[in-house]
Order: sequence, then structure tokens, then C-alpha cells
Amino acid sequence: MTVLYQSTRDKENVVTASQAILQGLAVDGGLYVPTQLPEFQLDFQQLANQSYQEVATLILQGFLADFTAEEIQTCVAGAYDEKFTTSTIAPVVKKGKDYYLELFHGPTFAFKDLALSILPYLLTTAAQKNQSDKEIVILTATSGDTGKAAMAGFMDVPGTQIIVFYPENGVSKIQEKQMVTQKGDNTHVVAVKGNFDDAQTAVKAMFNNEALKEHLAQNKMQFSSANSMNIGRLIPQIVYYVYTYAQLVKQGEIKVGEKMNVSVPTGNFGNILAAYYAKKIGVPINRLICASNDNKVLTDFFATGEYNKNRPFYLTTSPSMDIVVSSNLERLIYHLTANDPKQTKDLMTSLTTNGNYQISDSMMAELSEFASDFATEAEVEQGILATFTNEDYVIDPHTAVAERVLRKYQAQTDDFTKAVIVSTASPYKFPRTVIEGLTEQPQAGDDFALVEEIAEKTGATVPEAVAELPTLPVRHTQVVRVEEMQSAVENILGLQ
Ligand SMILES: *Cc1c(COP(=O)(O)O)cnc(C)c1O
Repeated sequence: MTVLYQSTRDKENVVTASQAILQGLAVDGGLYVPTQLPEFQLDFQQLANQSYQEVATLILQGFLADFTAEEIQTCVAGAYDEKFTTSTIAPVVKKGKDYYLELFHGPTFAFKDLALSILPYLLTTAAQKNQSDKEIVILTATSGDTGKAAMAGFMDVPGTQIIVFYPENGVSKIQEKQMVTQKGDNTHVVAVKGNFDDAQTAVKAMFNNEALKEHLAQNKMQFSSANSMNIGRLIPQIVYYVYTYAQLVKQGEIKVGEKMNVSVPTGNFGNILAAYYAKKIGVPINRLICASNDNKVLTDFFATGEYNKNRPFYLTTSPSMDIVVSSNLERLIYHLTANDPKQTKDLMTSLTTNGNYQISDSMMAELSEFASDFATEAEVEQGILATFTNEDYVIDPHTAVAERVLRKYQAQTDDFTKAVIVSTASPYKFPRTVIEGLTEQPQAGDDFALVEEIAEKTGATVPEAVAELPTLPVRHTQVVRVEEMQSAVENILGLQ
């Protein structure tokens, strides 16, 4: 039986892996999920000696059934190469009694690099497989992290163009500098006079604009999306959970079969969903700990079974987790209903119309493999300081959320199963919060000066990609009003 992909909202909507990657979202508004899980005989003694690329090849081959072995190998080799600063790609380091899975050694020093470095290869391969000779135009609005990681991934990938819109004055100085200095002939960055929602809404309107799509088609182009609902981003994230367990075996930290807990700093629910799938295919995971910041819609959901987006939205020091609607949760909901698209659709319709939904008691019972809690802003700073004081290790605010929530979980449950804290960003990406946590003082000074301070404090060297930022030439200076976004796209693509 081959693995196909089916919409969470319509069981008749079944496509191949490559079609699911090309489409991104299902046309019925649902998300693609595997019709069945591939069967793996995960032999961790053997996996312990395999490289990240070898593990990735194995896992992707199982899930992406219509890709040939050769195609998968080419995609993996193109993605996980020297653009990562460590040959292990995703190192697992022991600090105190815990393990940190460092997902920040890619080109933009945050975990989205793990998926966005391979997505361009999966997409272009998927286009070839489906006899599409059109150039792929990635259009994306970003609140900071995704846009840069997507450009780094798509830079100079033949057959693709990428256009990123970001809110002028709406991203950090470091994030802005990262974007406007982006290299590559096929990368385009435009600042928008508006907020992230304005930019996002305009991008969605372009995706649904039939005349514009037709105009693109006449020029042998098609839009595609790099957002986190695409299975081309989700599946590659399963890899690092398999790899982590294999590394723990290799390091002699865990006996094959012994379980581990994972604590995941969560926003859109993509990373922790990948851990859930990893557990389903045989990685010995005990608890999936879902860690939120003050935007604790998921913590409340796990506690009560009610998902309610009618709530205040907080800007926190872990901005990549400032989310009220966690899109990928729909996939978990679908599995909790025993794969019932009708029930899933009803719940999602309730979310759109009423802003909330309540799951049944039987669905609630299925949630016991998860635990969930949140960390306040003060706790995040405490986590940064405590980890440095106790372990001489500097973590970023997102990782600190997962660290604090793990401590709360351990205190409440006495479950001291070996735990992996998923480390999603380099501390150098969020220098102000890190220094304020370490010094317990508010900081003046710009972000670049604070980067130096972290380095001094820790004795570590600043990663090259951060250190070179102030000196890189600015390559993108276009600023447009929201109403001008579409004509900016047409100009960039030479459609006029
Ligand atoms: C995107 C992001 C997250 C949240 O991951 P999800 O898959 O959306 O739950 C956490 N930390 C960082 C640094 C991120 O960029």
C-alpha cells in the first residue's frame, strides 16, 4: 500500500505526495494528512551510526511515496549541506540532566531552516513529476522569520522566484537586515506600509485572484506557498526526532526502547505535530510537552478541550509563538476524531463562525500522550538566567519557554523521564531578551551591540552569519503601500 494524502475535510480529496506539496493547502480548505503511516522498522542501533542525511532519506522515502529514491537523495543532498554550520545538522547536546536539540545551525539560525532548506527541492521535483513546466513563484508575507528562511532556501534554486513582503517597522532590526541583504537573483523583498495582517491578507487575495493566476500561466508561471501547512515542511521535521533518538543511543545516554519526553516551544503546532508523527512511526516518545508563551490558547485547549480564539493577543519576547490560531492543530483534531473529515470540518467551521469549538470526551481521552503549560515573560527571563547559571549555556527566549514548561511539568508530575528540549532559535537572534535575562537589567544599545555582549558574557564566538550582518550590502529597498502589492509582484515578474 502506498502512502497517499487526504484532506482533513474531505475524504474524496486524495492526492499523491508530490501533488500535496505542489498544492500546499487542499482546495476545500483542509490540510493534507497521510492516508496511512508508512511502516518503518526503525533499528536504532543501526540508525545511531547514520548521518542526518541518511536518516532524512529513509524517513522521506517512506512518506513521499511517489518520489524515487534518487530524487529524495538529490533533495536531501541539496538541502543539508555546508549552509549548515555543523555537519551533524541538528546536534543533541547534554546540559545538566537534559538534552537540547539544537535546530539553529542553518542559514537563518532558527529551526525553520530545517524544513525550508529542503522545500524548494521537493517543490521543483514535484513540479517536474506532475509535468508542470511552469516557473514556481513563491509569494509570502512574513512577520520576520519565515520570509528570510524561505529566501535562504529558495535562493538561486533553478525554476523558482521568491517574493517576500514584510511589515515596515514590524520586524526586529536584525530580522530586517537579514532580509534586505538577501543575495540571489531570484529573491525579492518588499517592505509594506502596514502591519503583518494587511500584508498577509493581500497575499491571500493574490493567491485567489483568477485573472492574476491566468496572467501568470500565460507567462509559464504559477504561484506556490511556503507556509507551514505544506506537508513539504511538515514531513522533513519528523526526521530530526528520529535522528535525536538515534543520537542519544549513540552517545550512550539512552538504551534502545527507553522512552524520552520532548518539550517543544509551540506556535502554529507544526514542530510538535512532527514529534507526534515520529512517535507514531516508532520513536520511543513518552510525553509530547506543548509549551506556550502568554498566548496560551493551546494550554487552555489541552486542559479543557475547548479551543477558543476569542482572547487578547499578546506581543511577547518569543514572537514566533505569538499565535492565536494554530493551523496545524487541525491535523491532530482529525486524528483524534479517528480520521473523520465530517467531524473535523464541523469543528473547523465552528472555529471560523463562532471563534471556538469543543472536542468530545472520547477525543479528550486521546490527548493523554500530550502535556501542556505556558511560561510568562518573567519566567522566560528566569529560564535564560537559570540555564546560564546552572549549565553555562545560553538559550533563546523560545527555547526558554520550553525549558520552563518542562520544569513545571516535572514538578507537577514527578515524571523525570529523560527529556529533550527543542531549541528553536539561536540566542543571537534575540539578543535583547537574552541579555536582559542574563543581567536582570533593561538594556539600551542596539541589537548589534547586544550581540557582542552575549559573546563577551559567554566567551563564545558570534556565528559568522550574525557577525557579518552589519557589513552586508543592502540589496532590497522597495517600500509599497498595501494597495500597490499586486503591481509590485507584476513588475518583479515582468508581467507588464
Ligand atoms: C516558528 C517558530 C516556533 C513555533 O513553531 P511551530 O511549528 O509554529 O509550532 C518556535 N520557535 C521559533 C524560533 C520559531 O521560528
